[in-house]
Amino acid sequence: KGSGNSPMGTDDVQLAEQKDLISYYRDVAQRFGQRTALTYLEKGEEPTDSVTFAEMDRHARSIAAYFQSRQAQGARVVMLFNASIESAYTFLGCIYGKVIAVPLPAPSSAKLDRYLMRVKSVISDGSAQYLLTTSDIQEKLQMITSGMPEFENIEWIAVDGLPDYSGMWVHEGVVDNDIAYLQYTSGSTSTPKGVMISHANLMSNINYIGVNSGCHKVGTSSICWMPYFHDFGLIEGLLVPLAFGMPVFIMSPFDFVHQPFRWAKAINRFRISHSAGPNFSYALLARKSKDEAEFNSLDLSCWIHAGNAGEPIKKPNMDLFIETFMEVGFPREAICPCYGLAENTLMATMSDGGINYYEIDIAAMEQGKAVLSSGENTKIMTGCGKVCSGYWDYDVRIVNPDTHELLDEQYIGEVWVSGMSVSQGYWNKKDQTKDKFGNEIVGLPGRQYMRSGDLGFMIGDELVITGRCKDLIIVDGRNIYPQDVEFSVEKSLSCLRLGCTIAFSYEEDEATKVVLVCEVKKEYQVIDDDQVVDLDSKKVSAKYIKRIALKEVSEESQLRLHDVVVLPEGILPKTTSGKVERSACKARYLDGSLTEGVKRR
Ligand code: ATP
Repeated sequence: KGSGNSPMGTDDVQLAEQKDLISYYRDVAQRFGQRTALTYLEKGEEPTDSVTFAEMDRHARSIAAYFQSRQAQGARVVMLFNASIESAYTFLGCIYGKVIAVPLPAPSSAKLDRYLMRVKSVISDGSAQYLLTTSDIQEKLQMITSGMPEFENIEWIAVDGLPDYSGMWVHEGVVDNDIAYLQYTSGSTSTPKGVMISHANLMSNINYIGVNSGCHKVGTSSICWMPYFHDFGLIEGLLVPLAFGMPVFIMSPFDFVHQPFRWAKAINRFRISHSAGPNFSYALLARKSKDEAEFNSLDLSCWIHAGNAGEPIKKPNMDLFIETFMEVGFPREAICPCYGLAENTLMATMSDGGINYYEIDIAAMEQGKAVLSSGENTKIMTGCGKVCSGYWDYDVRIVNPDTHELLDEQYIGEVWVSGMSVSQGYWNKKDQTKDKFGNEIVGLPGRQYMRSGDLGFMIGDELVITGRCKDLIIVDGRNIYPQDVEFSVEKSLSCLRLGCTIAFSYEEDEATKVVLVCEVKKEYQVIDDDQVVDLDSKKVSAKYIKRIALKEVSEESQLRLHDVVVLPEGILPKTTSGKVERSACKARYLDGSLTEGVKRR
């Protein structure tokens, strides 16, 4: 049943029936053994390397058997891989071997110091005993890291050099709470935190996403350009399709970002049904596609599920995307807004088809209420789907973060999440785990919730995310969302890099001070303040940027900016998934390190 690369048709893969995660993938390998599981696209275009489901399973068993021979069950195993076939089967090898995978990126020449610092701190935090990589990465990295105790006291294993131990693998039982992997957050301000994802968490969320995006019924194949070391790429991009017997095409994130049109081309060429990304990637693809010579020959009618999560979903971006690609057959209802976070494995809510927008009164929002309005002073918010019903026990509530009481529908509060995919907590971080997990809602005893740190409200059964609690700017009793301040500045200054502006506030002398930090595009020269700004020749001064920013923010948000910091490209702190980190930026602004060593170009 289901062999070869033909579309899956009605093969109905019911994962819930499997007793554990290992059985998921073993069952699929047995049912679809000769079907191609993973294909790597060289430069994001040409298929150069592939493995079948049977081969993927054999590689995974081989890696797992090695760990079993070392009695390493439960050991932390750092993975350092580029986007590759090896990264996917190695992760499965860790699952089969019951070791705890810690997926991290491979080194690149840019920002090597920062990279090594991060890997070292993760190795120490997780007391990792093994490091899995490929022989070429091992060769380069061992030279650079010689003398560093974190890298010297760990056993390096190049997966491409391992003999075939697959026949020695034993399917050992899994207990639900056994940890499958640690998802490390960026941790730019403190030591990184590893979210513990158990076998049961992963099994539940893979099933939830797969079934609710139709992988079990209509899937043909999928493509992933998102990094494997981030929850969205790992789970939605690799683990979900593979668990349902869907072939996965892998493209490196760098190849996507260099030429976003490759994503659309690959979907067209390989007739991909499922492919996801955050808001920015849809915007980037739309902006970079129209002028491509091959645009008109695309047929994207095959792309029936386009998951969208991980950051705010913006209507102008989605309008542009849908308008652009509907011309070449993209079905608009394919866009699937979702909401999730690593502490819930991945997804908590999902749309059941298409996007809903809500027009909300801004003045009411500033007072913590979500009031639908069609008046003048409104803001369009995007629905992030609902908690899907079925065999899952997920629950999402809006809670007053101070009193822990449930809020009524019209109120904005903290999003609390409960259910089988909520993690047990952070590795080795008792206090932070206690704050975040295992909270009860007043009046709803007996059920434990994870506090997401996100703010939002419900409209009917749909969740709308408004921002992050810790980023909210509160001035004179008004709740102002930093993204609104950032957007108003970015849209009026074309010399600024999109998505690279941060607004935050701090308290000083009993006053709330609001600061804006922005990055100037590489092609602009920042000239001295007394020189003449010439936007046509791409010459701009910090003084000019400050003047426009002050005016825009004052007009649009009725806020007075205390300071505007203008930076060259690449300075703003970002998460591993490329989101701006407002709290890290604020900390660096306050301790003076943000502008240290920044020279005008
Ligand atoms: P990192 O893991 O790289 O440190 P992170 O803190 O953003 O990044 P993730 O678990 O990847 O962690 O992302 C989860 C966060 O993404 C959520 O807490 C929320 O703030 C944001 N998010 C997810 N989906 C949406 C959505 N649909 N709309 C708005 N924000 C979203």
